[in-house]
Amino acid sequence: MDTQTLLIALIIVLTLVVIALFALLLFIVLRSNLFTKQVAEDEKSKVKDGHTVVEQYTCFNHETQNAIATCAICENAICEDCHKDWDGLHLCPEHFGLYSKHKWIEIAEIRTTPQEPENGHKLYHFKHSLWSDDKTPTYLVTHYKIDVDGDFVESWVKLYVREEEADHLLNRFKVHEH
Ligand SMILES: [Zn+2]
Ligand SMILES: [Zn+2]
Repeated sequence: MDTQTLLIALIIVLTLVVIALFALLLFIVLRSNLFTKQVAEDEKSKVKDGHTVVEQYTCFNHETQNAIATCAICENAICEDCHKDWDGLHLCPEHFGLYSKHKWIEIAEIRTTPQEPENGHKLYHFKHSLWSDDKTPTYLVTHYKIDVDGDFVESWVKLYVREEEADHLLNRFKVHEH
């Protein structure tokens, strides 16, 4: 083997090594991207499951911004920029607009106590089914009361709907209850 053949062989080997390293690097980058996407998806699904209170989650409009609340109507996570407050009610920009255009009335109220915490769940389920079935906007308000004599905390969960849908939705609620 002369020096020239040896040099060519060396160049070929080096080129192969560089290509292999490049492929490895590309693989690592793609993998980490996929991983990040997966984490983002996981965080979104946590929000959908409703376990949003203590976990870190991101705004449904801005993937890079942390959410500070969930919309009372659609329950999407919202960041500081998207968050609208109406008398203590947290709303996303879309539902803030909707909220302000309608009159809302209470159609159902359920009292829950530490002994019967499941009472309020009926109302939560009903609200979620209205939204997931046909995007009917409603919201819940919870009031807490301390019973001085009984020495326990009771809460009242109230469901608010648009005035024009109140009769229809009250009937649906009665059906849903049974
Ligand atoms: Zn909303
Ligand atoms: Zn946002």
